[in-house]
Amino acid sequence: MIIYQDLNFKNFNSLKINCKIKLFLEVENVNEIYLLKLIFLKLKIKYYIIGNASKILFKDEYVTCPVIYINNSFSECYKLKQHFLVSSGFLIKKLIINLAKNNYGGFESLFAIPGTLGGLTYMNASDNNVAISEFIEKVIVLDENNNLIILDNKQCQFSYRNSIFQNNKYTILYVLLKPIKRMENKILENIKLSLKYRINNQDFNKNTCGSLFRNNEKYKAYELIIKCQCQNIKINDAHLSIKHANFLINDNNAKANDIILLINMVKNKIYEKYKIILEEELKILN
Ligand SMILES: Cc1cc2nc3c(=O)[nH]c(=O)nc-3n(C[C@H](O)[C@H](O)[C@H](O)COP(=O)(O)OP(=O)(O)OC[C@H]3O[C@@H](n4cnc5c(N)ncnc54)[C@H](O)[C@@H]3O)c2cc1C
Repeated sequence: MIIYQDLNFKNFNSLKINCKIKLFLEVENVNEIYLLKLIFLKLKIKYYIIGNASKILFKDEYVTCPVIYINNSFSECYKLKQHFLVSSGFLIKKLIINLAKNNYGGFESLFAIPGTLGGLTYMNASDNNVAISEFIEKVIVLDENNNLIILDNKQCQFSYRNSIFQNNKYTILYVLLKPIKRMENKILENIKLSLKYRINNQDFNKNTCGSLFRNNEKYKAYELIIKCQCQNIKINDAHLSIKHANFLINDNNAKANDIILLINMVKNKIYEKYKIILEEELKILN
C-alpha cells in the first residue's frame, strides 16, 4: 500500500479541482482493502472509496476522512474459460486492450471513459450503444459489515447509469465479465471510430467529469440545458460545454463551491421553466 499524507488531489481527478486529502491510501490487493475497512469499521471512522476520480467531487477543500484509492495498483485479470475475473482497479482502457489481445471484446466503445472497472460497474457506465452491465455476470464485493458476498447480474439491479452499489456501502473487489469473441483488428477499428466520434462531439481533452446531470426516459439533460440557455452561466472557471451542453468544464481554477453554485443555478433555471428537477450524475462526496 502507498500512503500519502496531505495529498494534493488536483492531478488525480479529471475535473482538476484543487483540494487536499489528509490520508490517501493507494491499495494494491484485496487484503489491504479488507484490513482498512475492518479498522475503519471498528473505529467507526468514515472513509471514501474512489476509483479513477472521473465522476467525483469532494465538497471540502481539505478532506479529513481517509480515502481508499482503488486504481491501477490493484490490476488483476484471470481468464477462466469464456470468462475473465478482473479486479476493480483495472482501468477500462487497459482492460479493453488486454482482452482484445485474446480476441475478446464487445464493450470497446467505452474505451475513452477514463475510469476503473469498479467505477464503471458502480455507475453502470454506458455510451449510446453499450452498457458495461451487459457483460457482467457476477460482482464480488465486501458489504457494509466487511463480509464477502457475490452478486449475480440481476442482484446488481443495473439500470441506466445506476446500480445497487449507489444505494449501499459495498466495495467492489472483482467483476466476472463475459466478453464476446471478436478479432483484435475489429476491436481496434471500433476503438478508432468511437474516439473519432468523441473528439468531434465532446470536450475530450478538457478538465471535465463528462455529463453532469442524468438523462431519463422523459428528457435529455443537454436539451433542457440548451433550451434554458444554461451554457451562458459561468461561475469563475466552472461552466457547461458549448460542444456537449451536459459536459461540466473547469477552465483551470474552479473550486468545488463554484461547481455546486453552477449546479444549483442550472437546476433552478430548468425547474422554473419546465418544473423538472434535474438529478446530478456527478457524485459529490461530503
Ligand atoms: C472525458 C470523459 C468522458 C466520459 N464519458 C463517459 C461515458 O461515455 N459514459 C459514462 O457512463 N461515463 C462517462 N464518463 C464518466 C466517468 O468516467 C464514469 O462514470 C466512470 O465509470 C467513473 O469511474 P471512476 O473509476 O473514475 O470512478 P470514480 O469517479 O472514482 O467514482 C465514481 C463512483 O464510484 C464509486 N466507486 C469507484 N470504485 C469503486 C469500488 N471499487 N467499489 C465501490 N465503489 C466504487 C465511488 O465511490 C464513486 O461514488 C466520462 C468522464 C470523462 C471525464
